[in-house]
Amino acid sequence: MYNIIIFGPPGSGKGTQSIKLAEKYGLTHISTGDIFRSEIKAKSPLGLRVQSIIENGELVSDDLLVDLLRSAMQKHPGTEGFLLDGYPRTIQQARDLEVLLTELNGGVNVVLALDVHDDELMERLLNRAQVEGRKDDTEEVISNRLNVYHSQTKPLMAHYDGQGKMKSVHGVGTIDEIFNRLCEKVDK
Ligand code: ADP
Repeated sequence: MYNIIIFGPPGSGKGTQSIKLAEKYGLTHISTGDIFRSEIKAKSPLGLRVQSIIENGELVSDDLLVDLLRSAMQKHPGTEGFLLDGYPRTIQQARDLEVLLTELNGGVNVVLALDVHDDELMERLLNRAQVEGRKDDTEEVISNRLNVYHSQTKPLMAHYDGQGKMKSVHGVGTIDEIFNRLCEKVDK
């Protein structure tokens, strides 16, 4: 198995790059944000449970994420590997992921990070709000999501850096420029 985590603040372009990376490397793309949005849209029990948390820009509990990940992974037995987008987001989730991947005889191979400045992120997310109308793209919720990212998710970079797996790229440029920067890191 070959497993990649893509990591970056809200609005850094993780989703777009994930689709391209998964295709190029033949990996199964799992986006926890996409899963939650489709559950909310379907008004499923899970969707109803997480809706207000997400609309406030808070994180869903680590325990709920373990179950969600395990069932998403079980849907793809025999995959070449996973491209994880939006998970892990806390140190506890990184530990849980280790266990989940070990169950599949795999581990985290590389962690890619998109580096984008907060001012640029706010601008992109406010634009996206107008195009896509995501409920968590209001100015107040965006700034909460950025705070949550800096306080809870960013520490993961040091965690993976300590394991020699962290590879950051500059996240401003065209989609293809950024994609090429990411591929260079994977291919190295
Ligand atoms: P963003 O574009 O802000 O990076 P995502 O689309 O990945 O966000 O996720 C949207 C929301 O779903 C998050 O703000 C959070 O509330 C919830 N969520 C997604 N993944 C996780 C996770 N791994 N742990 C906790 N909450 C999560």
